[in-house]
Amino acid sequence: MSKLQQWFNSLETDRPFETCKVCTQLLPLAADSWVVNKHYHRSECIMEYAVCEKCRDSVSNRFSDPSKAAIRDFLETNIDWEQRLLDWMALEKPEQRLDNCVACRIPREKTEGFTLSAHFRQDGSLIDGALPLLMCSGCVATITASLSPESQKTWQEFVSEHFEGPDSDDINLGIF
Ligand SMILES: [Zn+2]
Ligand SMILES: [Zn+2]
Repeated sequence: MSKLQQWFNSLETDRPFETCKVCTQLLPLAADSWVVNKHYHRSECIMEYAVCEKCRDSVSNRFSDPSKAAIRDFLETNIDWEQRLLDWMALEKPEQRLDNCVACRIPREKTEGFTLSAHFRQDGSLIDGALPLLMCSGCVATITASLSPESQKTWQEFVSEHFEGPDSDDINLGIF
């Protein structure tokens, strides 16, 4: 397994995620693809999960249209995707794409926290595209702040429904 892919193993099992956090089905049966999100605070992983495409869509569909537009707008305006993909292709090691925030480019060690996301296909291999990526908590907070209060509540409900422990207010948006 590549080092890049190892970042997205479950820390609990040290193996790839096997079930969707929401529908609890085995991932290859749940949908054609899934996303793994991990939230770190001061280099400690505070929340990690895999969510199948179907459940991810059902959560993000509960976001209002202006909120979806705000997320799209941030991703399009603050990230030079063409340049980023060129940068990533030029890396010596693929896992180096997680060394900096995809948007503001702050180095991972200098962040307060960050979110990692990767997209997997049904056979469990990584889909190489806009993901995998790392986004620093500052940039994620900017996106979260641009969401309508209802959409922020949708996200907080998702966290409190599916996770124990971390206060949902502390967990920045992870599905986009
Ligand atoms: Zn699911
Ligand atoms: Zn950033």
